[in-house]
Amino acid sequence: MGLLLKIILFGVAVWAAWKTFHRWKSLFDRFVGKPDPPPAAPRPPPAEPLPVRRGPVEDTVQCAGCGAYLPASAEKCSQCGRPQPQGRSST
Ligand SMILES: [Zn+2]
Repeated sequence: MGLLLKIILFGVAVWAAWKTFHRWKSLFDRFVGKPDPPPAAPRPPPAEPLPVRRGPVEDTVQCAGCGAYLPASAEKCSQCGRPQPQGRSST
């Protein structure tokens, strides 16, 4: 038996095995059924930029002049320049 014949036989054997494998694999897949891929998670809508709200978040005081919220440490209003009362009358 020549070497070339061996190689050819080997190739044919590999090819047959490959075909058989694919046939069985396709049959298996068709019979079992591939699990459906999980539906793509609905992408959350793009986060809208939160409107910049000036509210009492931390320690803020409201300007008596223009109503803008200012940090309590601010000495004067940054909006209208009205000086803020330092002594907060908290009853
Ligand atoms: Zn003000």
